[in-house]
Amino acid sequence: MKIGVHELYKSENIRLPSPGRCIYCRDEDSELRDEHVIPYALAANTMILENSCCEICQNIIQRYEQEVLKKQLGIFRAQVDAPTRSRRKDRITHVDVQFMEVDGLGQPIRDLGVRSIAVADLPLAVHLWQSPMPRRLRSPLKPEVEQGKPWSFVDRANINALCQKVRDETGAKHVAYKSGQVSRLNYLRSLAKTAHAFASAQYGVDAFEPYLLDLILCRSDDVAEFVGDDPFEAPVDHQDSHTLQIFLGEPMGGGEQGLIVARFQLYPNLGSPAHLVVVGKAKIDIQKHLGEMHQ
Ligand SMILES: [Zn+2]
Repeated sequence: MKIGVHELYKSENIRLPSPGRCIYCRDEDSELRDEHVIPYALAANTMILENSCCEICQNIIQRYEQEVLKKQLGIFRAQVDAPTRSRRKDRITHVDVQFMEVDGLGQPIRDLGVRSIAVADLPLAVHLWQSPMPRRLRSPLKPEVEQGKPWSFVDRANINALCQKVRDETGAKHVAYKSGQVSRLNYLRSLAKTAHAFASAQYGVDAFEPYLLDLILCRSDDVAEFVGDDPFEAPVDHQDSHTLQIFLGEPMGGGEQGLIVARFQLYPNLGSPAHLVVVGKAKIDIQKHLGEMHQ
């Protein structure tokens, strides 16, 4: 399957008018708040859908989204100076890093204690998740393959230098440290939420039959059905220094035609996995809609 890519996320600030209801639970009567289509922590105020999220849904979403943005991506975001709502003095400046002596196979032997490392001195590392394509777009796989695996970018040279320092101080032969953790479910759920919000903002809430609401509102944990990765090369410039690229497209041909798919890549210049999220079934003619938008 190839994705026809039509829309490139642009970094100008866009405010879109309210759809008149919550884009997640569809409630029209509760008080609605502005929704950051792309989380503020990743893209500041790049795209805001006015009055489009109710308080109940916001609370459900924040629980997992904040964990991803703070625990999984927090240190990396501090290292690359990503947007943060907290005042400068509240920003992360130091991180407690736990060092271990390990054997030749990387198994822990001895605890070497925790050291406080300045963010500026901490080797760059980002931890994401890598999966096969969403189940909806491929043939069945064994559960352990479908699960996917952690993906990391690490600055090896600086990690080695840091571990060398600890080796010199402690006399340990091999030193390692844990630099991040990924909750697969929270991470993939957050991608589903962003893809749904993006499609709702771009096409309108009535433009498609939504597939992701149960995932977004934590009524289902089956992320693999709709969230996975794109095995194909990016159709855009990989050297682009954006921290995030997001597109919407429609798979061409076969039973998948008519599905709306978002392609979502965090930190593309690190060669990170490109995630694909099946957002829903189009009720409008996507090709026509895109054609009109480009005129
Ligand atoms: Zn709601």
